[in-house]
Amino acid sequence: MALDVGMVLKNPGQVYPFRADVELPQFEVLGDPVRFQDTRVAGEFFCTGDNRISLRGEASTVVASRCSRCLEPVQAPLSADIDALYTRQPDPDDPDLYVFEGHSLDLEDAVKDALLLELPLQFFCSPDCKGLCPVCGANLNHGTCTCQEGNVVTGPFSALKNIVLKDEEV
Ligand SMILES: [Zn+2]
Ligand SMILES: [Zn+2]
Repeated sequence: MALDVGMVLKNPGQVYPFRADVELPQFEVLGDPVRFQDTRVAGEFFCTGDNRISLRGEASTVVASRCSRCLEPVQAPLSADIDALYTRQPDPDDPDLYVFEGHSLDLEDAVKDALLLELPLQFFCSPDCKGLCPVCGANLNHGTCTCQEGNVVTGPFSALKNIVLKDEEV
């Protein structure tokens, strides 16, 4: 979704409100697929002169990823403040500037960057997710597996055994 900034450029200093839906492509965080769904942004923008546009607002989205422990799908709401400055020419001294062309100002990069700053590195389906059995891979939230019963490994080599088992999974 791009904003038409024709009017904004003609009236420097005049503040215009905006509201938009933004489609963002799926990406990966630490190997986990992450998607921002129903991403919306609302705020205001104005021309600061010199063909620059200042844009402020708030983006909200629903993050779809998977639980870091049990790998089940997880959704979580996420919001972020946006404070972006757009220019026509990229400035090597200021890599934080966003670039716009003609009368069309693209929101995707600024919205994605702001949301990424707020994105947790890991998601959990619940705070006390029990994860997967390291032996058979069963989801322990759905009940115990047979390896958990009467087969608890203790002693000086139990930690070592867990490491070996983890390696075998890969
Ligand atoms: Zn989980
Ligand atoms: Zn098991």
